[in-house]
Amino acid sequence: MWKGCTSQRKDGGRGLIDVETAFKTATIGLDHYLKHKEGKYPKQVLEHERSKAKNLISKNATKFKREVTMPEIEYREDKSASENAKAMKHVFKSRMKSTKEEKWKNKALHGQYPKILEKPHVDTVTTNKWLSNQVINTRNYQKVICGKQVESKCRLCSQHEETVEHIVSGCEVLAKTEYISRHNNAAAYLHWSICKDHDIEITDKWYEHEPETVIHNKDNNITIMWDMPVNTDRTITANRPDIIVKDSVNSTCKLIDMTVPSDRNTALKETEKKCKMMIYKYLELEIQRMWHMKTVVIPVVVGALGTVKKGMVENIKKVSERANMTEIQKICMLGSARILRKVLSV
Ligand SMILES: [Zn+2]
Repeated sequence: MWKGCTSQRKDGGRGLIDVETAFKTATIGLDHYLKHKEGKYPKQVLEHERSKAKNLISKNATKFKREVTMPEIEYREDKSASENAKAMKHVFKSRMKSTKEEKWKNKALHGQYPKILEKPHVDTVTTNKWLSNQVINTRNYQKVICGKQVESKCRLCSQHEETVEHIVSGCEVLAKTEYISRHNNAAAYLHWSICKDHDIEITDKWYEHEPETVIHNKDNNITIMWDMPVNTDRTITANRPDIIVKDSVNSTCKLIDMTVPSDRNTALKETEKKCKMMIYKYLELEIQRMWHMKTVVIPVVVGALGTVKKGMVENIKKVSERANMTEIQKICMLGSARILRKVLSV
């Protein structure tokens, strides 16, 4: 977002030392140096400075220091003028960085991402691998950030503000088609990985893979089911796991539940989480009882913009040794990018 930044992806893709910081730091350093350095040339520069009305180094330096509430720095007589200036620049740079971070966090819209990243459930390192910093021209962006007088409601549902988050994960018009196909792509990749794990013949490329409803491998007695409802005796709402892997030799069963929610909701509210956990627990017990197999539900949750909840990398390994978090993030984000492109061209 900032011009001239050196991208620091591990901090969320924003280079926090940029051209502005470089300029201000240089000004302060120079001002400090000129005031303390003995000799003919610094004095001449100071004279020249005093004769100028605008852009005084000293005036600017004072202003820049005030902007970041720079602390008073003791002048060390045992050091040279340039060493003192260097120490000063160092403090200024770090003040500038935290001021920028603060500003960035508070800025509407752009601030949403760092706020999400700060939440403890988010696996920051994995998430930021896929962070892209593009400005996306939603209606809300035009109105709030660009200050244009335009309709800011979603062009499809007219119900909610048209933000990136809304388009990629919150619009009911897209829910039944676009979101499902993005979800199915991610789940199909998991299905493909599981098939490969169990020596089932499939396509070389995951994206050419079309999951069959039921696949059985006689040699190792593995059954893999795709989008198959589990008929329990009692009514459970969530009885249609994306993938079921039955291992009849070891009497184990895995139920895989893939979700691509809004990046804000990768950790559900505590009550929703408890509710979901209860449903999972119930489903596990029911299947254990009916099929006499040790059963476990494995949730795989990846945000529409690639946010990864803590623990998800481990969960994916439980699904399949060869499945890779980065690949799933890529699938979700490419799906979201496709949706954005489609909607914004309407
Ligand atoms: Zn909408």
